Formats: sequence, structure tokens, C-alpha cells
Amino acid sequence: MSKKTIRDIQLQGKTVLMRVDFNVPMSDGQITDDNRIVQALPTIKYALDHEAKLVLFSHLGRVKTEEDKKTNSLAPVAKRLSELLNLPITFVTETRGSNLEAAVKNMEDGDIVMVENTRFEDLNEKAESKNNPELGKYWASLGDAFVNDAFGTAHRAHASNVGIADNMVVAVAGFLMEKEIKFIGEAVDNPERPFVAILGGAKVSDKISVIENLLTKADKILVCGAMAYTFYKARGYEVGLSKCEDDYVEFAKSLLEKSNGKLILPVDNMISKEFSADAEAVLVSADQIPSDAMGMDIGPKTVELFKKHLENAKTVVWNGPAGVFEFDKFAVGTNAICKLLAELKDAKTIIGGGDSAAAAIKLGFQDKFTHISTGGGASLEYLEGKELPGISSIHNKCCSCKNC
Ligand code: ADP
Ligand code: MG
Repeated sequence: MSKKTIRDIQLQGKTVLMRVDFNVPMSDGQITDDNRIVQALPTIKYALDHEAKLVLFSHLGRVKTEEDKKTNSLAPVAKRLSELLNLPITFVTETRGSNLEAAVKNMEDGDIVMVENTRFEDLNEKAESKNNPELGKYWASLGDAFVNDAFGTAHRAHASNVGIADNMVVAVAGFLMEKEIKFIGEAVDNPERPFVAILGGAKVSDKISVIENLLTKADKILVCGAMAYTFYKARGYEVGLSKCEDDYVEFAKSLLEKSNGKLILPVDNMISKEFSADAEAVLVSADQIPSDAMGMDIGPKTVELFKKHLENAKTVVWNGPAGVFEFDKFAVGTNAICKLLAELKDAKTIIGGGDSAAAAIKLGFQDKFTHISTGGGASLEYLEGKELPGISSIHNKCCSCKNC
């Protein structure tokens, strides 16, 4: 279902409430990576260029005690955003009340007000995280239209996304949200084929629903990462000290049986005797992992095999690193997959998953993919085929409802 976007609405002179994802990493009151703020700029600038009065909402971390308020204030984020835009921002240190209402009322076209961390409301019986109906209604009453650009929270029904949208005459997607719906949504619902998924990462148990959903959609699933060893065990191979989930071996067996050859497992691995950055790496084939060693990465024959399966792909979705990419020595397979995907012509290449995105960026492939999702948990749930409440609550293009 196609969703209304910020391009579809009147902005000039309107008070526009915008949910962004400014949940940036902080250390000692300093922002250590402002990527999320930078990513939100196109939608923010668009609203300002069209002379909206812009009211920004975001959460930052978790707020469980009064003490958490000190370390989770959005004040440093407001300062950074002001620097990036080179514009003043009125930062309201509260999440409701007369100061907020006055700040919004006094806005002129093109002004920006930023509300303090929406999760400060969680000290009030989890009002934000439990989507307290009064809170969503109150925030909605402050504006004329709602723009949701926070894909990272789309898998949660909170007051600042679903609550506001449900009380608004106009609720649309920002550009970031639009991109996520377009690339991940289309890949899962209506992919151009051949559609190949690459699934790696730490655990089968984290990805059960993703594997099950993609088995019904993808033409091939290339398995890598630690996840491969649970499948190896299901095939009766020795996995030694590799990360393997014994409780899921039966499940892996049933998947292999019903997959009709769609699941492709690694044919060789880099193994080591210990889990460390400078452990000696040895190459062995799939069924040759000794009992005193562990699989840390895929090997070169697996890369060649994956290359063959990827050659004609038109859509590729990748979730989960191929090995322990945090150690340079075992980032070779993940790096090789990045390269394979970067070289594909005419294919949409999409990364969903926090660590996979971090790996691609760390290895310098940031600009080589069609889309790198900004939401870890949200992109996983999207790949599982689940309905994301943050997206469902955005109005559909055909009319102004979300139900048709
Ligand atoms: P994502 O966040 O992209 O969904 P996951 O969280 O599932 O990915 O997995 C990422 C983690 O998987 C990384 O920390 C990586 O070190 C780990 N991993 C990958 N391969 C292996 C392996 N062979 N042994 C142990 N851990 C692995
Ligand atoms: Mg992860």
C-alpha cells in the first residue's frame, strides 16, 4: 500500500509535528556519531524550505529513573542540529505543559522547536512507550500535520509515532521512511527476480522468522556467519567449538528439508582455536572443522559459490555479517560480500540489520549499496514480514485513512 509523503501535503504556514530518530550514541554528554541527525536533514530542510513551523520529537535511550534524564537529554542534539542547519532552534526542556505550548504558539514560518526526549514521559507510567492515548492526543493537538521519519522506531507503537498519527488529520512519511518502505518493503513484497537473500550473523534463533519469511519469497538464501554452524550440525558435520545453537538443530534440519535446495551453506571456513583478533586463521572445508576449533568466517570457495548465485540477481537483501567482522582477520568474507554486491549491475542491493550496516560502513562500502537501512530492529521485523505499527499509522495515498 503506498503511503502519503511529505511531498503530498501543504506545509506553508502549518505547524508540522515531525517524529525523527535522534537516538544517537552519546558518551559523557557528547555525541559520538551524528549520522542519524545528518540522515534526517533532507526531510527537515524540505519542511523549512516550504515555510512550515517545525516541531521535532525524538526519543534518546531509555528513561527509567529521574537520574536517566540527566544523561538522556536531547539538548546536545538540538545544539548539533542547529550547527548543521546553521539556524537557531528553540529547545523546550519539557515534553508537555505551558512552556511547550507557548513555544509552539510563538513560532513563525520556518522556525524550529525541539521537544525534550519523548521518553521522559516514561517516568509517567510509561506514557510514551505504552502509547498512552491522552499523550498522543495532547501532542497531536499542538500541530496541523504529522510527518513520521523515524523508521528505527516503526516496529513499536509509541505515543510519539502511532499516538500522534492516530489523532491527526494528516499523517505522512518523511523521505527516510519513504526510502525504507520503498526498498525493504518492495524487496519483501514484490521483488524483482531473481531475488537472493544473504543471511548471516550470530544466531539462528534471532532470525527464525526472517528465514521462514524469506524462504517463501526469495529464490535463493545464502547462509553464512555463525548461523551456518547450526545448519552444519543439522547435516551431521562436526562444528567443534563454533557458535552453534543445539536447541535449534532440529529446526535447521526441517528448514533444510523443506527448502528445496534454496538454502545454500558455506563450503569452506576460516577457523581458529580461540576467539581473538590475532588468533591463527586456518582454512578448512565444511566437514573438516576439528573438535578443538571454531568457525570464524567463510572461506574463498564459499565466496566463489555465492558469487555464482548472485550473478544474475536483480534484488539482494543482506542481513547478518558473514563472520566475526569486528576482528580484521575475520572480516575478509564480509568484505568480499560487500565487494560482490558493489559490483553487481542492475541489482537493487539492500542491507537490513544493525551489525550488517555497521560492517558495510566500517569496511568503506557506505555508498555502494542501493539502500542501507537506518533501523536495526525495525528492518529485521520488516524482513520477517510483520506489520510495523509506525508505518501502518501513516495515511495511505489513495485517501486520508490507514485502513482501506
Ligand atoms: P545484524 O545486527 O546485522 O542483524 P547479528 O546481530 O545477527 O547481525 O550478528 C552480528 C554478529 O554476528 C557480529 O557481532 C559478528 O561478530 C557475529 N558473527 C558472525 N559470524 C560469526 C561466527 N562465525 N562466530 C561468532 N560470531 C559471529
Ligand atoms: Mg545485531
